[in-house]
Formats: sequence, structure tokens, C-alpha cells
Amino acid sequence: MKLILIGPPGSGKGTQARLLSKKLKIPHISTGDILREVVKNKTQLGQEAQAYMEKGELVPDNVIIEIIKERVSRPDCEKGYIFDGFPRTLTQAQMLDKIFKEKNKELDLVIQFKISDESLTKRLSGRLICSKCGADYNLYFKPPRVGDICDRCGGKLLPRQDDKKNVVINRLKVFKNQTKPLVNYYQKQAKIKDIDADKKSENLNQELLQLIDAEVNPNGLPEKQSFPAESAEE
Ligand code: ADP
Ligand code: ZN
Repeated sequence: MKLILIGPPGSGKGTQARLLSKKLKIPHISTGDILREVVKNKTQLGQEAQAYMEKGELVPDNVIIEIIKERVSRPDCEKGYIFDGFPRTLTQAQMLDKIFKEKNKELDLVIQFKISDESLTKRLSGRLICSKCGADYNLYFKPPRVGDICDRCGGKLLPRQDDKKNVVINRLKVFKNQTKPLVNYYQKQAKIKDIDADKKSENLNQELLQLIDAEVNPNGLPEKQSFPAESAEE
């Protein structure tokens, strides 16, 4: 199962991708997370990437493509994966199609997260991340049990560098201009489905699983009970 989650920053893609990854037992590939790791290492590439990320601009396509190529060639990706935050430009989407072609594989589904501007603002301004384990919290929707301490590992929770107001505004603009056109691209391939991302996390997760299930099993019947092909026609 090869999935892409598309949606504006703050639409909850990351949270959902992590949940889906556990349930479907395929890796969650977030280019944002990978880049934040690269930045921590303070290599030249890390410093270059950081400069873009701090402004809310996109890291150049060639860097991203290299990261993805390396990542999907690892053995844990054999049964599929969930892309979160990739592709983000038309060039990235075209490169991904090329990779699929070369490997004789096919994309299964793109899910578009749709959300109101109001929820988006709350989600972004309330976001906190554990400086140790990367777990994410939200002051409005998913507050930590104690102060600014991670429930899981006791690490200190911090806002993300790029969640500052002017950077958020830029990230939303970049999404609209560079990533939104991908919806059209995948509509042409008839691979995209929308989801209302204003919902609570658990409900959203249920709905996502149903969407994915319907894709894998379009008859809407559990496999064992499926009728023979001729009588299953409607
Ligand atoms: P969000 O979707 O919440 O803005 P991400 O964690 O996905 O955040 O990405 C953070 C930053 O990392 C982006 O603003 C961008 O600078 C960079 N980035 C992540 N994925 C990509 C990508 N596919 N192409 C270019 N830049 C990316
Ligand atoms: Zn933690």
C-alpha cells in the first residue's frame, strides 16, 4: 500500500500518518522529520536545508528527491509506505512517478486533508514538540499531562522553530502556490480522495482506515465473504 497524504501545514497529516503506520504496519515517511534530523547533524546539507525551513520556504527538489530515493530503497519499504509532506511540488510528483515506473510499482491512493482556516490557526499556534523523542502535542487539542513535559519520555516540549507567526503565514502561502496544484495532478490520475480534517483525531483515523479499506477491497465486503465475480456485480 503506497499512500500520499496531502494537506496544509497543521492539518494533522503527521499525527494521522503515525497512527496509520502502526495499524497498517508500513513505514511513515515524513520529509519534514527527515530534514529536521539532517539539520540536527549540522552538516553542510543540514545548514542549507535549515536556511529554507526557517523561512518556511521549500528545500530544493533535488535534495528531496535524493532523500526519498534513499529512503524507499530500504527493506522496510517493500510492502509500502505512507508519505507525509511529500511530494510538495509538481517536479517532486513527476520524479516520484518516474521512481514508481522504474520499480514497476504503482501509487495506490492520495488523501487530501481539507480543513477550515480557523482550525488551522489553532492547530499551528498550539503545537508543541518533544525535544527528545519528537512526540507532538497541542495546547488546545492534545495538551501534555504536566506543564511542558513530554508524557512519554519526560523531555522538554518546545514550539517548532517554523511555527512562528510570519513563518506560518509563509508556509501556508507556499502550500497554496506550490503544493495545491498537485491535487489537480492526482485528480487526473483518478487517485485522490478528500477527507474532512476538522474532525477529532480518533474519528479522522477511523474514517481514513475506511477510505483505505474501500480502496483495497472495493466491493465493500470482507474478503472471505466475497461472492464469486459474476454474482458480485451490482
Ligand atoms: P508542515 O507540513 O507542517 O509545514 P513539515 O514538517 O512537513 O511541515 O515540513 C517542514 C519544512 O520542511 C517545510 O516548511 C519545508 O521547508 C521542508 N520540507 C518538508 N518536506 C519538503 C518537501 N517535500 N519539499 C521541500 N521542502 C520540504
Ligand atoms: Zn518525549
